[in-house]
Amino acid sequence: MTPDEFRKHAHELVEWMAGYMENVEKYPVKSAVKPGEIFNRIPGTPPLQPESFSFLMKDLEEIIMPGITHWQSPNFFAYFPANTSPPSILAEMIISTLGAQCMNWETSPAAAELEEKMMIWLRDMIGLPDNFEGVIQDTASTATLAAILTAREKISGFTINSEGVASAGTLRVYCSEQTHSSVEKDVRISGIGKRNLVKIPVKEDFSMDPVKLDEAIIADKEKGYVPCCVVATIGTTGTTAIDPLRAVGAICHRNGIWLHVDAAMAGTALILPEFQWMLDGKEYIDSFVFNPHKWMFTNFDCTAFFIRDAEALIKTFEILPEYLKTRTRGLVNDYRDWGVPLGRRFRALKLWSVIRSYGTEELKRKIRYHISIASRLSEMIAGEKDFEILAPVILNVVCFRFCPSGLSDDQLNAINEKLNHALNDSGKIYLTHTVLNGRYTLRMVTGQTNVTLDHVERAWDLIKNCARDLKIG
Ligand SMILES: *Cc1c(COP(=O)(O)O)cnc(C)c1O
Repeated sequence: MTPDEFRKHAHELVEWMAGYMENVEKYPVKSAVKPGEIFNRIPGTPPLQPESFSFLMKDLEEIIMPGITHWQSPNFFAYFPANTSPPSILAEMIISTLGAQCMNWETSPAAAELEEKMMIWLRDMIGLPDNFEGVIQDTASTATLAAILTAREKISGFTINSEGVASAGTLRVYCSEQTHSSVEKDVRISGIGKRNLVKIPVKEDFSMDPVKLDEAIIADKEKGYVPCCVVATIGTTGTTAIDPLRAVGAICHRNGIWLHVDAAMAGTALILPEFQWMLDGKEYIDSFVFNPHKWMFTNFDCTAFFIRDAEALIKTFEILPEYLKTRTRGLVNDYRDWGVPLGRRFRALKLWSVIRSYGTEELKRKIRYHISIASRLSEMIAGEKDFEILAPVILNVVCFRFCPSGLSDDQLNAINEKLNHALNDSGKIYLTHTVLNGRYTLRMVTGQTNVTLDHVERAWDLIKNCARDLKIG
């Protein structure tokens, strides 16, 4: 493709992109294709001769789009959002045009230094202490792995990397029963082992019970285990429960245990002064992760990882073969030493674009609005006798179920599962579920970039009507 051909296709593509943004609500939110349907429509062998990009665009419309679930639809209320925004998309265009691989400072000084500055902006926006340093990771799962590995090295006097996990006794990691599955995955990968992940019971509001944490640590020490790391969550995936950082942090401090905070989705809400209470006890935090790629209008992937002792992180990850030696080593941040991957994209550019385009005031206004429509939705749900709210509504998630009278919990579970599928199959909205105290729970997340109260009211009407039309039994 010549630069002139590129120019032509790119202009057409920008039209397509803007059109998609304008029309995203017209697509069924959740793709309705069957397994194998897309696979079977794609030729088994690659073309021998060059093909025009216009053929690809044609197939994009015909083959690919039916198999897309529209995360950017304001009627997407499932999981947690993976928001984009026009300034983020524009930055992604620049990032892929430059195609810089930003592993070392030297491989693109601007990428390293913009990343350093963006992490300072973000750290200050969310109110973390100013002795934290930050780095962009691909996902919260990998950032939490970096935290656990650093905690593991620190507790073992930096010996496990060379001697293996067996050398340091049986390490233990603690999190609540509501913690995201990535923590278990990371504990397995770290060599600590799933059976050494202790899941602490939660209180009625689904937050970690610090008394139970304290008891578990005392019992473990008596058995000769080595407590290594506690993962506290600000905004659990099920219900956005907030673990009590001050109480948990004091326990960690007393026992010399690393405190990692997973605020993957809810971290964005910390830009609001009225939500700083979630960080009460922040002086105890050793590392902290949140995903601008969830609720902060920045294309996936962009995870912000902050750490108090960056030296410990670097000591855990640095490796210096001859071909990576540079003259600036030690004077600058070589982010390849701050996590698992060597190669790195220029992700700081999209944060820069998003934060500058919105400004912090507009970011705050949008986040407040999302929180206010969740609260409005919970009032509407609470106002209906045949529905109930199943968890406190703190941020942008409302957990509820349909509960017509006279049915057992098993029957209610079956009917709510049926309701969830019927709603998603309608193509009008997309919701996902969780299970709370054995109850099948619908979760509605009001955090998509362009969601409005109108969308939420229409979704709620649909849910009510669909539920009441379901045949019970
Ligand atoms: C989404 C989520 C994760 C995982 O995020 P990735 O960036 O996809 O790895 C971890 N923890 C919590 C609380 C989450 O909500």
